[in-house]
Amino acid sequence: MATATTRNNYLDENQSRFIEQLLEWLAIPSISTLPEHKDDVRRAADWVRDKLVAMGFPEAKTIATEGHPLVYGQWLIDNKRPTLLFYGHYDVQPVDPIDEWQTPPFQPTIRDGNIYCRGASDDKAQIMLVLAALEAWIKVDGALPLNIKILLEGEEEAGGASIARYVQENPEFLRADAVLICDTHMVHPKQPSLVTGLRGVLYTELAVSGAKTDLHSGSYGGVAPNPIHALCILISRLKGEDGVIQIPELAAAIPIPSAAEELFWQEDPLHAKEALCTEMGVEELVGEKEYPALERIGLRPALEVHGIRGGFTGTGAKTVIPASAIAKVSLRLPAGLEPNEVFAWLEKAVDEKIPGGHKVRLSNLHSGKGFYIEHDNRYIRAAAEALESAYGTAPVFMREGGSIPIAALFDTVLKTPVVLMGFGLPDDNIHAPNEKFSINQFNKGTKTVADFLGRLTSG
Ligand SMILES: [Zn+2]
Repeated sequence: MATATTRNNYLDENQSRFIEQLLEWLAIPSISTLPEHKDDVRRAADWVRDKLVAMGFPEAKTIATEGHPLVYGQWLIDNKRPTLLFYGHYDVQPVDPIDEWQTPPFQPTIRDGNIYCRGASDDKAQIMLVLAALEAWIKVDGALPLNIKILLEGEEEAGGASIARYVQENPEFLRADAVLICDTHMVHPKQPSLVTGLRGVLYTELAVSGAKTDLHSGSYGGVAPNPIHALCILISRLKGEDGVIQIPELAAAIPIPSAAEELFWQEDPLHAKEALCTEMGVEELVGEKEYPALERIGLRPALEVHGIRGGFTGTGAKTVIPASAIAKVSLRLPAGLEPNEVFAWLEKAVDEKIPGGHKVRLSNLHSGKGFYIEHDNRYIRAAAEALESAYGTAPVFMREGGSIPIAALFDTVLKTPVVLMGFGLPDDNIHAPNEKFSINQFNKGTKTVADFLGRLTSG
């Protein structure tokens, strides 16, 4: 077996070619949400399939779906070696507001060590750096160190369901020992990080009704039910000013963090509290102040109201007592909880807390499970060691507040540990004008992934 140094030299020597290819791919405007870009999305899928073929993948194809195609490639070298499934997405976000781009969004441009283009960080460069790492093994060692399956989708930015359906229908075909996803960012160019947890989500609608029709407040004010007021009381009974969610079953189900995680959150070496205040433009954080900010975002549940509709909000005055009101309320859930079970707990709490004289109906609009991977898992250990070797600093383990539904799906359907090792940076402007990806991160990313692959085989 060649050494890591030989592979790293190969990656350095061939970097400009990898970047050139990446720019070619980036120039294809694969915006999945806009129907007028359907052919471009298809072209981007074909491009990466052809790239896999050129790399020597014995199997590489596009798979038609009801939406945009999936791209699948596999190279199985030895059934005694582990199998890694790599997931990424080749579609990109729309570009508006277009006037704020310094160079056209699909004219990839290199400035100050960065590649500017829509889709650079999210997710094409991060796919390309994995392909470069695989190529280094193929060219330098003559073979991949383990079995590789690659599954890329073109609907991630459009919320498409094709990949979820495919994964659910083909668990045997996709069987692997670990999943690698490079679609997140590190906390700082000098501080690598690994995402070990994502919260789940339960999005609901609360509909409250009172009298059979709207009423006049002169004639009925003081005796009539008022659904808007009842909704406000209900919501504040579900979560008071102290930020504590009053659902006893949920409170009892919050996982206990490890001692190391607890210490990291308490010490807050990344200054998350100040960073969050700056990002939001606020003086202080609200909510459960006795818990550190990263614990509240990463581990604890959150209940948020997204909108309330009802009654009169036009210009001037109208003395109506509305017959009904609606609120959109969501919960972010600790990993491990089943959203449907939490829905039943919430329903019970709502029934108990709705003020008398009102009817309430709770609907589940959508939900997704959270995800957590143990640090002492060998795949996470291999990723951490590879990051430390490339960056000279051990990674921090982060739980992110948002949800990546596909990660939870790999975890629950395929029962395969997921490694979320991203090389983006916080200022990459993903989903915004002037999206970029750092060339230095690209180079370090190729070496980290090549090293990671080797560690999976030797462990
Ligand atoms: Zn992405």
